[in-house]
Amino acid sequence: MRFVTDTHAHTLVSGHAYSTMNEMLMAAAEHGMQLLALTEHAPAMPGTCHPIYFENFKVVPRNRYGIELLLGTELNILNPDGEVDLPEETLGKLDLVIASLHGPCYGLDHTKEENTQAYLNVMQNPYIHIIGHPDDGRFPVDYDKVVYMAKETGTLLEVNNASLHPGGFRKDTKKNAAEMLQYCKRYQTPIVVGSDAHVDTEAGRFPYVEELLTEIDFPEELVVSTSVELLKEHIACKRRAFGFTL
Ligand SMILES: [Zn+2]
Ligand SMILES: [Zn+2]
Repeated sequence: MRFVTDTHAHTLVSGHAYSTMNEMLMAAAEHGMQLLALTEHAPAMPGTCHPIYFENFKVVPRNRYGIELLLGTELNILNPDGEVDLPEETLGKLDLVIASLHGPCYGLDHTKEENTQAYLNVMQNPYIHIIGHPDDGRFPVDYDKVVYMAKETGTLLEVNNASLHPGGFRKDTKKNAAEMLQYCKRYQTPIVVGSDAHVDTEAGRFPYVEELLTEIDFPEELVVSTSVELLKEHIACKRRAFGFTL
């Protein structure tokens, strides 16, 4: 299985990441990517950019160093109602939108039912394409329900390389990702892979994801990151499913 897209990465403007847009693009191209999405943390994350950052992406060329660039965001899910931290007017202009649970924005004291409800509600949002790192044991969820709803709504579930890093700070990620992937096999729910790189050396690299997918013999046809066309089809499909023409 060969991955050609990396749909989750951060640059300097996220406030706790350390490379520029050009450095990230060059590194991703070097690591064999055909497409890189830069998904800066949305405004509720301490230290990230102002909302206006997400309003001027039209000035940025989308092809450099032989690689396609998508510009989007990683939203913060703020509560179990599934509220997020950028308005729909902004989200509608972005190439790609991830939504994730992060301690500083959502808190670490919610129940499994509340976390599950947060994801189920977020997946009803037609502007959100991907659930980021749904593997973090600090936010326990019912994977049966989440994976089923992902299939129903055309939302992609991410297998996150940074989560699976042995020195990573998220909890029980390998066990949780493996459980999620078993349900993905059962419901035929597609996944994406994301490096979640916060520095250029990690862009477009997925060693821990590769290891896990091989271990559990995950079917290649459910991995949309193996083809730019397949990824774009899934991005377009989400909005169509909710009656949008774009
Ligand atoms: Zn981050
Ligand atoms: Zn994240």
